[in-house]
Amino acid sequence: MKLEGSEILLSASDLMRFMGCIHATAMDLRYAKGEPLFPAEDTEDAKILQKQGDAHEAKFLAKLRADGNLVIEFGRDRDLPASAKETRAALFAGADVLFQGAFFGLPWGGWSDFLIKVDKPSLLGAYSYEVIDTKLKRKPDPKHILQLVLYSDLLATAQGLQPEYAHIELGNGERFSFRLLDYAAYARHARSRLERFVADPPATSPDPVKMCDLCRWREVCQTHWEESDSLALVAGISRSQRSKLIAAGVTTMAALGQHNEGVPKLAETTLNRLRTQARLQTARRAGGRPSFELKPFDPSRGLALLPKPDAGDLFYDIEGDPFYENGLEYLHGVWFDSGGSGEFRDFWAHNRTEEKEALRQLIVFFEDRLKRFPRAHIYHYAAYEVSALRQLTSSHGVGEALLDQMLRENRFVDLYSVVSAGLIASEPRYSLKNLEVFYMEARTGEVKTAGGSVVAYEKWRETGDQSIL
Ligand code: SF4
Repeated sequence: MKLEGSEILLSASDLMRFMGCIHATAMDLRYAKGEPLFPAEDTEDAKILQKQGDAHEAKFLAKLRADGNLVIEFGRDRDLPASAKETRAALFAGADVLFQGAFFGLPWGGWSDFLIKVDKPSLLGAYSYEVIDTKLKRKPDPKHILQLVLYSDLLATAQGLQPEYAHIELGNGERFSFRLLDYAAYARHARSRLERFVADPPATSPDPVKMCDLCRWREVCQTHWEESDSLALVAGISRSQRSKLIAAGVTTMAALGQHNEGVPKLAETTLNRLRTQARLQTARRAGGRPSFELKPFDPSRGLALLPKPDAGDLFYDIEGDPFYENGLEYLHGVWFDSGGSGEFRDFWAHNRTEEKEALRQLIVFFEDRLKRFPRAHIYHYAAYEVSALRQLTSSHGVGEALLDQMLRENRFVDLYSVVSAGLIASEPRYSLKNLEVFYMEARTGEVKTAGGSVVAYEKWRETGDQSIL
């Protein structure tokens, strides 16, 4: 989004952001109009994604060239109206592929990835073009569709013909094609909603959504939530629960912690949990020590899921790299008691072959351990370990029988389920890192979270610097 003269120029990414969070659009608009706001820098994750997206795009471009296509490439260094003029001329010239062609027709504009020539007559001659975008994901996202319909509509104006299809080159090498007519009404409705929003911006306030972690306004919003003691800070609260509380006049975390009356449409047990959560977090924010309260005992959940401790128990974690092509489980880590002192065993993998070998060694290790300690369990935190093991054993054809047996015997104990159903803690999240305050000193190493581990691993892949591992 930017000011083009006195008008706001909107792009496909503005539309995608608007669909994710209208407050982000409101902030973008204020920023574009020159308000002194300070967006956060891209996160390391976002930088890796950007780099990999560029590499995916470059690979597809190289393939088009290798297939003998005549490709005209446009730089992004010119301003958009000038690039759009050049693109229009190139459309009439009839090259096979236009890479980073530009479109400009206020309020919309932007650079499409690829325009590919097809045998369908148009204003240009006996041919026309369709839009192809490259995306790293393995499945198309509804937001990608909005983007492609926008570029296709802008292309239609330039070539005097509505393209029939648009395409996405996915991260796994497959192409997803869709009929534009099937999505046109939805996409145009979304665009006109954004146009109306920009013409007359309503008041908005930040409400946490999935995309917050990658949003450039995340620091501004976090400060707002903290300064206003927002309900958004309460761990595990949902959007609809916040709305019901606000409608009942409970607007801050401290107020929720003290609220002793009912709230319409909010179940009493839910309200009790949220109230305790807010009270403990408020005390902690005021400088109190980490604290927790046990939930009422339920024989089928929470602490009741904990088996009897055994000398052979294992504590297990997997680190996976989603940025590796089709994902790579690059490290299995197991901690266990070895004759009275703790021992850590790691199983590394830096490519698909090593991933299989690391899995094989891990399975042998588990099998041996369970033979020696028939009552041992494998403790892990959250569902990822078991789902990754299922996926690994089936894709590599290694250890499926043992994994099935371990699952049947309830060998795996998910400590996240135990904790989240068993107690209410004073911390803002229930991640392993947040809960470490209850049992260990603050970490001092550079890698403190699973996300940080992936970023460090990606840095190692790029630089080969062994000190990172
Ligand atoms: S941080 Fe979250 S709530 Fe704030 S603008 Fe971004 S997406 Fe919206």
